[in-house]
Amino acid sequence: MSGQEEVRIGEMILQKSSFTSDTNPGGFPFQKKTAALIAIPRGGSLAGASGSAPHPLYFRPQFDTILLKQEKFHGIREVWVQEKIKLGISSCLLGERVRYDGGHKLDHFIRDTLGLFIEWVPVCPEVESGLPVPREAMRLVGSPEAPRLVKSRSGDDYTDSMAGWAEKKLAEIAREDLCGFIFKSKSPSSGMRGVKVYGPSGIPSRAGVGIFARAFMEKFPHTPVEDDGRLCDPGLRENFIERIFVFKRWKDFTKKGTVRDLIEFHTAHKLLVFAHSPKHYASLGSLVAHAKNYQIRVLQAEYLALLMEGLRLIATVKKNTNVLHHMAGYFKKQLQADEKKELLEVIEAYHKGLIPLIVPVTLMRHYVRKYDEAYLKRQLYLNPHPAELMLRNHV
Ligand code: SF4
Repeated sequence: MSGQEEVRIGEMILQKSSFTSDTNPGGFPFQKKTAALIAIPRGGSLAGASGSAPHPLYFRPQFDTILLKQEKFHGIREVWVQEKIKLGISSCLLGERVRYDGGHKLDHFIRDTLGLFIEWVPVCPEVESGLPVPREAMRLVGSPEAPRLVKSRSGDDYTDSMAGWAEKKLAEIAREDLCGFIFKSKSPSSGMRGVKVYGPSGIPSRAGVGIFARAFMEKFPHTPVEDDGRLCDPGLRENFIERIFVFKRWKDFTKKGTVRDLIEFHTAHKLLVFAHSPKHYASLGSLVAHAKNYQIRVLQAEYLALLMEGLRLIATVKKNTNVLHHMAGYFKKQLQADEKKELLEVIEAYHKGLIPLIVPVTLMRHYVRKYDEAYLKRQLYLNPHPAELMLRNHV
């Protein structure tokens, strides 16, 4: 698999940072597409290294995707192309100079690494609601539950303007079908938690939520959200990214709106949910077992609420160890004594914090493939997000 850049030729947009594979890697949202795989010589351009006319395939509309490979001509064939996940983001985190002081807050991990898998929908509430750059800084004042957004020096109250704009913007965002939102931390407009709120004493409490972030979370309560500060924590980062991939799969699975699709989704996510919350795993199982008692829309709504609540809980080392032992139980008969011993030792080393989760998971994947274990093969726990993000590689 490899990352690619977006290139425009005439009216055609060539594939942007696709991750492709000849077989369906499973796990993430992949689609089968016919692609023209075209060689661009190293250091060459789309017009060819010699400056000759573009390759005629560039202009053939029948190809969904044109992937540019650096090494050699790959011909035309069917490949699996990873669909990008749509996420909202505070514009300044992508490097846009929209902050009150004319600066930005570019986050390299978000833009350059996570961004390979994401289609961004940038939002700057202050600028989009009509404020200039640069502008007077803002802050929250009053009670943390219902603060006012005011300009720091003049004290002008901007709450109603922001709230009115946010209402319209959220209606627009609803059509974007986002799978998550990354907010700029600490901002009185965009911060999703811990924003300073100034009370009458002038001493701030860190109990506020930015005006736009609050409106977003109220309108889309199940959509995964996180802020740039918390994404620096490896556990929170993995948790958020896992949730956006689950949410994307949920949207895809439930498009057709059948109980069968929901059951299929549930089966594939069982161990993933178990790693976050055995309690939610049990509740979701019971809900699915009684599926026929519900109308499908009600069932989906209840399932999603429970699922996202469970996934917000961190998959701790202890919970992951439980899942790994549970999986090891599937190989009781197949594994030789030394293989069993090795597997248990690797799980134990993970439990003690000596090796990262990716090590026992990789060994488990090896046995799942080797013994073609049908149930575990379907488990997204073994493959919840792209390996390129290296989210399970920390101790
Ligand atoms: S924190 Fe929000 S309002 Fe402030 S500059 Fe960034 S996107 Fe705009």
